[in-house]
Amino acid sequence: CDMSALDNLVANTAYLKAQGGDEKELRKRRQSLALPKPGNCVSVRTSVGQDFESLCELQPIGKKLFRNFLSETPEYAVAAEFLDELNDWELAEGAAKDKACTNIINQFCKEGSKSFLSCLTGEALEKCKAVTEKDFEVVMTGKVKEAVREFLKGKPFMEYMLSPFFDKFLQWKQYEKQPITEKYFYEFRTLGKGGFGEVCAVQVKNTGQMYACKKLCKKRLKKKQGEKMALMEKKFLEKVNSPFIVSLAYAFETKSHLCLVMTLMNGGDLKYHIYNIGEKGIEMDRIIYYTAQITTGMLHLHAMDIVYRDMKPENVLLDSQGQCRLSDLGLAIELPPGKTTTQKAGTGAYMAPEVLTETPYRTEVDWWSLGVSIYEMVAGYTPFRGPDAKKEKVDKEEMKRRIINDEPVFEHKNFDPLTKDIILQFLKKKVDERLGCKGDDPRKHEWFKSINFARLEAGVIPPPWLPKPNVVYAKDTGDIAEFSDVKGIEFNDKDEKFFKEFSTGAISIPWQKEMIDTGLFDELNDPHRKESSSRLDLD
Ligand code: ADP
Ligand code: MG
Ligand code: MG
Repeated sequence: CDMSALDNLVANTAYLKAQGGDEKELRKRRQSLALPKPGNCVSVRTSVGQDFESLCELQPIGKKLFRNFLSETPEYAVAAEFLDELNDWELAEGAAKDKACTNIINQFCKEGSKSFLSCLTGEALEKCKAVTEKDFEVVMTGKVKEAVREFLKGKPFMEYMLSPFFDKFLQWKQYEKQPITEKYFYEFRTLGKGGFGEVCAVQVKNTGQMYACKKLCKKRLKKKQGEKMALMEKKFLEKVNSPFIVSLAYAFETKSHLCLVMTLMNGGDLKYHIYNIGEKGIEMDRIIYYTAQITTGMLHLHAMDIVYRDMKPENVLLDSQGQCRLSDLGLAIELPPGKTTTQKAGTGAYMAPEVLTETPYRTEVDWWSLGVSIYEMVAGYTPFRGPDAKKEKVDKEEMKRRIINDEPVFEHKNFDPLTKDIILQFLKKKVDERLGCKGDDPRKHEWFKSINFARLEAGVIPPPWLPKPNVVYAKDTGDIAEFSDVKGIEFNDKDEKFFKEFSTGAISIPWQKEMIDTGLFDELNDPHRKESSSRLDLD
């Protein structure tokens, strides 16, 4: 029998089984876990800072504990409930939206009502009492929402920081700082190959959470002088917080590797979906959905002055739900407002004319590459290579000439007028005529009219296509080439310093989300929990 096929089958089975989860096994593993004692959390009290948005809105455990605190005082509880209901209203559509609006007015804006917003004062109070269905949006999402948030930022926030709920938060923050090593994870099959090492599936032993782990060989990094790039990729991944960009949950080191533990995207990349499933190309409703998510992710990067520079279908990965995210920020660069670069970076067929001519550029290059990618998703080939890529080999110089001089042609039957229009607008050679570069918002293009972007970001629009749960959308393990040894590399103090700077352990927001999603948060907070007296080591 074929050993490599058997190895692949065994690897896939273990990987798929882990994703299924084993409750009993997990509970056993968790028995020995406990939060650090409050007495050991003194130093984090000062290190967490006093930023309301970070402590009570962005950090998932912080938000939960703040809400628990608010629920104990009726006036505070009403304010929190109002913000939730208003959020639901913002995401609702049609008749449900009208109903939600009427409900909010009756519940929170009528002075006699039990849940009247008694925290309001002055102008916000008057506006709230006088609100009608007609001016609801302006009044509520403006003045009133801001005033309620300002209220919570004041006395309730101060009281929270002195309450047992905040003590609990500090215990979790201390726990979050635990050192992370390879023993924290089980390792499963290799999913793909990068420039400095492979990417494999891993599972957190304590929670059962699955992730992808991108390993960077320390010796290879040093040999190819990739350290600075690796650190930049880590810092960008750590900074972004978008449902449409892979998140970084942990960064740690082993003797031989630096490791980035990220959102597991097990539905395959878009290049695979264009070329390897059925007829070449992707159905239009899926293209629009994916492009809407990509556009939102891209805007998130650009808002932080990060230029992605490697937009192409291969770098867009699907998760098990069929939602997509941008991955591989290895070519990304931060350009503060006003700063430009002329660095030649990107992938051949997707590079914008201004990159090829080494003209100073900023975020505009990403919109060009998105235009090329939409074209490819529709046609099954890129616009400047053309349909006969196999017969006619287009070399680098010819590709460059075409990108700079030629207009794209749309001979494929699947191009409709709106799709052509958005592609042509992204493929404007003159940067100041390009969609997304004129102070305009690409999300407003008519091509996206079926997408409610607020609902898309909230994750409540079901994806148009679902990956099959029992399929591994990755090359067979035997077909992923292994790395050869790197010889003759020694590390000095500077290298060790860089390894430490990289290996910062758990990243707050994704880690806290993992604790909540997997139930460990509730389990360790349970006052009746009986933990076993000895803390077992994880092996
Ligand atoms: P490099 O920057 O070295 O090219 P990538 O980040 O592109 O590395 O990762 C290499 C390969 O690993 C990808 O092409 C993909 O097949 C796989 N991969 C990367 N990230 C993930 C992820 N989050 N989930 C699943 N597979 C991934
Ligand atoms: Mg890559
Ligand atoms: Mg890369």
